[in-house]
This record gives sequence, structure tokens and C-alpha cells, in this order.
Amino acid sequence: MFRDGALRPADRRIEVRSPWDGETVGTVPADTPRELDDAIRRVRAAWRPMPPGDRSAVLRRAAALLADRAAETATLITRESGVCVAETRKEVERAAANLTVAAEEAERLRGESIPLPARDRLAVTLLEPAGIVAALTPFNRPLNQVVVKVAPAVAAGCAVVLKPSERTPLTALAFAALLVEAGLPPELLVVTTGAPGEIGPALAGHPEVDMVTFTGSVRTGRAVAAAAAGRKLLLELGGNDPLIVLPDADLDLAARLAADGAFATAGQSCRGVKRVIAVGEIADPLVSRLAQAARDRRTGDPLDPATQVGPLISEEAAAEVERRLHDAVAAGAKPLCGGERKGALLTPAVLDHVPPGVELVVEETFGPVAPVIRVGDVDEAIAVANGTAYGLQSGVVTSDVTAFMRIAAGLRVGAVNLNAGPQFDSPHIPFGGVKASGLGREGVRYAIREMSVTKTVTLPLP
Ligand code: NAD
Repeated sequence: MFRDGALRPADRRIEVRSPWDGETVGTVPADTPRELDDAIRRVRAAWRPMPPGDRSAVLRRAAALLADRAAETATLITRESGVCVAETRKEVERAAANLTVAAEEAERLRGESIPLPARDRLAVTLLEPAGIVAALTPFNRPLNQVVVKVAPAVAAGCAVVLKPSERTPLTALAFAALLVEAGLPPELLVVTTGAPGEIGPALAGHPEVDMVTFTGSVRTGRAVAAAAAGRKLLLELGGNDPLIVLPDADLDLAARLAADGAFATAGQSCRGVKRVIAVGEIADPLVSRLAQAARDRRTGDPLDPATQVGPLISEEAAAEVERRLHDAVAAGAKPLCGGERKGALLTPAVLDHVPPGVELVVEETFGPVAPVIRVGDVDEAIAVANGTAYGLQSGVVTSDVTAFMRIAAGLRVGAVNLNAGPQFDSPHIPFGGVKASGLGREGVRYAIREMSVTKTVTLPLP
């Protein structure tokens, strides 16, 4: 466990292995629920909110330190996650940007004053830190997923108990040490690692935790929500994001957005393109450009800077995607390229004429796959896009703003991007889902709100 600013020695440890070559990247402690309970109680006893100016200074220094260590941090993320280094360098930049925006927002925390109708009293709202935040994060983007929870929590004045994925905990531990080096009071941050089935429920259900923020799969998110019942809760769960391409779309743009969205992080992104919905006659030229873009992607060793698609997180994960590809083809989808598996590596696949009811597109498929679903018109595109349990992000490619507005109004999702994919991202905007995709909003400013409580103060007016 990382607490009081240092990693404690532990006898029980778990190994972290590279998905690319199986080599041991490091080991981390396998904490017990009892050790975790003790640590959370210590945080509760020690927690005093820092002044906002100090929070801001810590976050600014952390952004600068991260920028100084960009290359080594990107290498560590690549070693433990398998995501290629060309992408993990960008992940480090995103994380630094999130820290910088959090530093700015920490100085802009505001309540409001409410003049009451009788004019006999004034009401003022104060924004106070929620308290102790339990943050549980997934394996994909192991730095940025941690930063988008920890940075707003620090900005809001909270203490954090972080549980990173057991598959990618080394980046989280390195970041925790960096935050303390940047001046975060050591008693405000604990990082617990170990068997998720043991420490996950113990953390989410701990009576001294005031808020639980979770990013991960729908299944685990529901278990976490049950354990956290009665507490403030933020859930960022799975996605099955569509890119809808209308007949008038700029073909180059549509093919590029589809390929980038489907193949980035080897398809292991909640906001990646999981379904390409092609309306009308654009399907033929779109599919051939997309297939070419897939064939052009370089797969292989993630530490090679020229690699664009590295391995999936594990061989089992890649085998599951391969199975879904085979099932889709058996149900009538036409495979155009890719889908060849070697261990955890899967070449980028494009399938045409995918029936909307196959598992590949009904469930969230976490792999480098671009399934194309052909539809006849905009109404059918909206119905297909809405036809899964998920509702995270989406993108529409068209120059017809009226059609775009109809689609934007019809989609049950957290965001709709015109001439950008569901992967569009900025630290300044809200991010989150509807339906099974989640509850609450991240995006620095919005996450700070979620991690704050409003206290109302009223006073008599003369
Ligand atoms: P996961 O649900 O398996 O794990 C997420 C976290 O929960 C990990 O830290 C894990 O150790 C922990 N966990 C596992 N079992 C637990 C339990 N019983 N109690 C408490 N915690 C437990 O997810 P994953 O495979 O690491 O990540 C991939 C998933 O995350 C995908 O579904 C993806 O869409 C989703 N995701 C969502 C977003 C978003 O912002 N919406 C972002 C990234 C990833």
C-alpha cells in the first residue's frame, strides 16, 4: 500500500506482466481488507481540506513534473498496458493538461447568493469538499483514468483512496509518488493494490468513505454501486459508441475518424468507435477506404515508436474479440480485413454488412474492430444507434446541419460530435453517459462539482 507518501513493504505481492512479451514489469503489494480499513481510518482522522491556493499550486507542480518525466512515464504505461508508445506519449500530455485545468479550477470554486422573495433573508451556498473519495480505475489509459479522478478530488479539497486496476497499478503508484513530490500532504492520498474481489468491495462499501467514483465495466460498476449504496456516486461505465456517416459526408474525414476511433488503444477505449453506421450509398466507398486504413496500420511491438496498434491487455481478451468476430461472420457479416490473432495481438479488422443483433455490436467489444452496419435513412440510423444498453458518446459526419440536429436530438447519449468522432475529448467539457454507460459527469470542472457538497447558509437581512 502507498500511504504517508511511501510504498510500504509487503510479503504478499502480485506480479504485473507485459501483455506484449509476458515479462514481469514489476510487483505490487496484495493488500488485505484489514490493512485497507486501517488506512482509511487514518485518512479520516488526518483529513483537513487544503486552502484552494495550495491545491492549485500542488496540481500545477504535478503537471510540470509529469511533463519533465513524459518519456519514462509513457514507457511505463506501455510496458504494463501494452498500448503503443506513440499513444501513451499522448496520454501523458492529456494527463498533464487535466492537471493544469484542475489547478485553474481549484481557484475558481464558487457558490451563489440567492435573494429570497420576501427579502427578509439572504441565502448563500458554500461549496465544500465531499470528504474522502474512493476512486476505482480501469486498465485502459492507466495514467489518465487516475488523473481525471485524483486531480478534481485534490482541486475540490478531498482526500483520496485510489484502487487502480491490478493489471496496470505501476503507473498509478508512480503518479502518487509524483503528487506527493509536488507537495500534496502525504496523509491525503492512499493507493491500495491487490486482489480486486477482496479490496474492491471493502473500499466501495467502507463506512468512512463519503464518495465513490468508479470507471470500468458495467458489470463491476453495478456491484460497486450496490456496495456504495447511500453514498455520493459517480460511474463511468462501458460504451458502444456509434459513428454515423450520412450520404453527403466528407469521405476522407469519415474514414479517418472511423479508423482512428476504432483502432486507437487497440480498440480498448470506452469512447472509441464501436459501430460505424453508414447511411445509404456512402457505404461502398466508405468501407473500402476504411479497410485500406486498417491494412495500413502497423501492428506489433508497442515500444517501437512506429507501431500504431499494440497487443490487447491479455491473450484471453484478444481471444474473446476473435470469437465475436467469427460469430458475426457466421451470422452474415462480411470480413474485409484483419482479425488475425497471435497471442494478445489482433490485427485491425473491418467487417461490412454486420447484422445489428450480433454480440460484436450489441455488447461492448474491446478490440481493434470497425464493424460497419448499413442503414437506409437517418431514422433507421438513430434507431440502430440507440439499440443497445449503452449511451456514452457519438459522432456524426455530414455537412447537413438540419439532419445533424435531428440526430443529436434523437440519440440517447452523453455527447454528440459533429464532424468529430465519439473520441473527441477536452478537459474543459463534461463527459459521461446515460443508460447503462453511467451516472454523473467527469471533465475537470464537472467532476469537482460531483466531489463537492453544497452547504446552504441563510442570514437575516436588515
Ligand atoms: P473492470 O470493471 O474489470 O475493472 C475496473 C476496476 O474495478 C478495476 O480497478 C478492478 O480491479 C475493479 N474491480 C474488479 N472487481 C471489483 C469488485 N468486485 N469490486 C470493486 N472493484 C472491482 O474494468 P476494466 O476491464 O479494467 O476496464 C474496461 C472497462 O472500463 C470497459 O468496460 C470500458 O468501457 C470501461 N471504461 C469506461 C470509461 C468511461 O469513462 N466511461 C473509461 C475507461 C474505461
